[in-house]
Amino acid sequence: MTADTMTRPVNLILLGPPGAGKGTQARMLEDAFGLVQLSTGDLLRGAVNAGTPAGLAAKSVMEKGELVSDEIVLAVLEERLQQPDVAAGTILDGFPRTAAQAEALDGLLAARNQQIDAVISLEVDDDAMVARVSGRYTCADCGEGYHDEFKQPATAGVCDKCQGSSFKRRPDDNAETVRTRLSAYHAQTAPLIEYYNARGTLSKVAAMGAIDDIAKALGKIVSHLTGA
Ligand code: ADP
Ligand code: ZN
Repeated sequence: MTADTMTRPVNLILLGPPGAGKGTQARMLEDAFGLVQLSTGDLLRGAVNAGTPAGLAAKSVMEKGELVSDEIVLAVLEERLQQPDVAAGTILDGFPRTAAQAEALDGLLAARNQQIDAVISLEVDDDAMVARVSGRYTCADCGEGYHDEFKQPATAGVCDKCQGSSFKRRPDDNAETVRTRLSAYHAQTAPLIEYYNARGTLSKVAAMGAIDDIAKALGKIVSHLTGA
């Protein structure tokens, strides 16, 4: 690897349906490689909570489990890309989700002299996603993820990571909305797997196993890119 590629920011995309573990893995990659997770879902939820015009327009669409318009998503993403912390590189989580977003992303990165270095598709079984997503919740203080069935805190009601005691659930994490989100994924996002495969940037990672095993597989891919 040349000095040039080592200092250049690395940009990754995590693809996968709701519940595939994109957020969990993105947080682990942040810690391991100093990249910044950029989740359009989080950005949109921030806009909803702040009551911005973009948030007002996105709220009901998100509650139904449908995709927010490319225009709104691109606007929140562009704003986020102006902030200095993303200069070292990003893990895109939940973006792009449509062909138009993928094309717009190429343009945004080209304008910054950057590119997508790797696209990782987390391969999971749809059937398991409804149960995964419907039971999940997070620590309101540190964002650590939990699940009613699969991962409760060691002490009930206390976050393992930060000892916080307030937790939150997303309004769209219910069985009915998850089904709509899965359909949106297959109709609009899954075609991007082929789009990136044709460019030679795609890796598929089996993602039904243990979180740490999946993190290891991802870490291998990313360490090749960063030289770390
Ligand atoms: P998940 O991947 O678990 O469905 P996200 O937090 O990524 O969760 O997204 C939640 C919702 O936010 C989506 O169902 C959609 O309404 C909206 N959203 C997030 N990212 C995008 C995007 N890139 N394009 C369109 N809508 C988006
Ligand atoms: Zn916590």
